[in-house]
Amino acid sequence: MILFTSLVFALLSSSMVPLSVLAQHQVVLEQPASKPPPSLPVSNATESFWLRSPRVFPTPAHGSEGPLTVDADICIIGSGITGVSAAYHLATHYASNSARKDPIKTVILEAREFCSGATGRNGGHLTPSPFEGFNWLAKLYGKTEAARALALEKYTSDKVFSILKKDNKLEHVDFIRGGRVVLFFTIQEYEEARADYVAAKSAGIDMSDVQWLTSEEAQDRFNTSYPAVVIPGNNLWPLKLVSVLYNLAANATDNFSLSLHTRTPVTSVSASALTSGRPWILSTPRGPISCSYVLHATNAYAARLLPWLHGPDGIVPTRGQVIAVRANTPNALGRTGFVGNDGFEYWFPRQASTTHAVFADQGSGGQKGQLIILGGGREATKDSGYEFYETDDSVVNPEVGRVLRAFLPRVFPGKFDEGVEPEMEWTGVMGYTKSHEPFVGPVVDRYGTSSLGTYKGQYIAAGYTGHGMPRAFACAEAVAGMIAADIVGERWVPPEWFPMHYFTGKDM
Ligand SMILES: Cc1cc2nc3c(=O)[nH]c(=O)nc-3n(C[C@H](O)[C@H](O)[C@H](O)COP(=O)(O)OP(=O)(O)OC[C@H]3O[C@@H](n4cnc5c(N)ncnc54)[C@H](O)[C@@H]3O)c2cc1C
Repeated sequence: MILFTSLVFALLSSSMVPLSVLAQHQVVLEQPASKPPPSLPVSNATESFWLRSPRVFPTPAHGSEGPLTVDADICIIGSGITGVSAAYHLATHYASNSARKDPIKTVILEAREFCSGATGRNGGHLTPSPFEGFNWLAKLYGKTEAARALALEKYTSDKVFSILKKDNKLEHVDFIRGGRVVLFFTIQEYEEARADYVAAKSAGIDMSDVQWLTSEEAQDRFNTSYPAVVIPGNNLWPLKLVSVLYNLAANATDNFSLSLHTRTPVTSVSASALTSGRPWILSTPRGPISCSYVLHATNAYAARLLPWLHGPDGIVPTRGQVIAVRANTPNALGRTGFVGNDGFEYWFPRQASTTHAVFADQGSGGQKGQLIILGGGREATKDSGYEFYETDDSVVNPEVGRVLRAFLPRVFPGKFDEGVEPEMEWTGVMGYTKSHEPFVGPVVDRYGTSSLGTYKGQYIAAGYTGHGMPRAFACAEAVAGMIAADIVGERWVPPEWFPMHYFTGKDM
């Protein structure tokens, strides 16, 4: 057991982000909606680091012109990691089924460019939580469910790694297993993390990869004077991961056909008037599409098509902001990802890409300072609502931008120069839930406010609360399994890692 008596919690100046706001953030999250339901994703979004010239297939505007698919077994709305992972899991499922008479026809419909939602604009971390949030979940759902929620994250991270390794794509997606350093700026933050750690460990979760550091040790290893805990963690290029999954799905088997239409927003889902044929009609500006199954993989925008999900009992769109900024030395932060201030700020150093460069020198390989991707700063808007219900990612919030610019020079004195302008700055919209847990399963109008009555054949996987990279792939696997089981009239059997508190259905 490490002694922490020598911890020094340095006071961060008032020009930094506000600290210890998690409790108040939760209070505001649970307040009634302050704005109308989300619009469709705006068409002129800010450009993120990941979306600038990734040179992958599908191209950003794939399937936006030419004939529209008009009939499909399964329509997936949204081309982020959830929608594309669902296609991947369906393809894998049908690849191992015996030959079918006709392939399962699946179409992905995307309002704007391929993977241009949260997945294409996030912080690039793929880090499963080994213990964070354990007590919160145990209080809400019990220890077994809390342990399952952590297991799902580890499952996702391991599975994504093994798929990329098998397909020889680790380098292509810039996969870095550099670990994550969690910095504690307040004693409260530190004590809560310790309590989660102790509770998760006593529930039998393996903590052999977790290392607690005093502020002196953190200074020696990471050039910052805050106590810390080091956990396993990865970072990657999210859009490239999604493109790998898309291509694996599209080429998996003759039993499964996949098409994609970008710039094709779904404006409504309505019941077909026909007594035979497909039960659902998706309306788009390019024409209608009939289908038997619908997957809402729209995350922050879910309430646009499912209005009762608007508000604190549903999915709260929440705008996040990210900058790409240089340190003053080529290898300032090494290869490690970081998070601090109760998870509000997250950052990692880009490594020099071996596949291609967005900038002439985007990592640690050259003379320029290392490029850091830093997200967060929403706490700066605590008096105006933490960016909840903000769905416009065509603009950045200057108040958030101000604290992001000040953050790294304060946390790593000497490694970053004050006043350096970021090379890129963008926003994206996350989907928050008040439990912080996603909704996965059949669409059920729990509040009975929908005119449609039944949603048989419609499913959802959404609401990851800014922590979707280690969860969406597995949630998509669960929901794809539910659809595949329903197609053949079988009962879906949940995988052992699936937390049943994610499940939207009433019974199994
Ligand atoms: C700024 C920011 C930083 C983040 N940082 C991290 C991080 O570091 N680690 C982490 O784990 N998570 C992070 N997240 C969260 C993570 O990115 C998301 O949880 C995850 O990407 C959600 O994936 P998704 O596929 O469900 O949603 P999205 O990627 O948002 O995909 C949904 C898609 O649906 C489309 N769509 C919506 N409505 C319609 C419609 N009506 N018709 C057609 N298409 C529609 C959207 O255009 C979008 O492309 C961050 C998110 C943001 C915004």
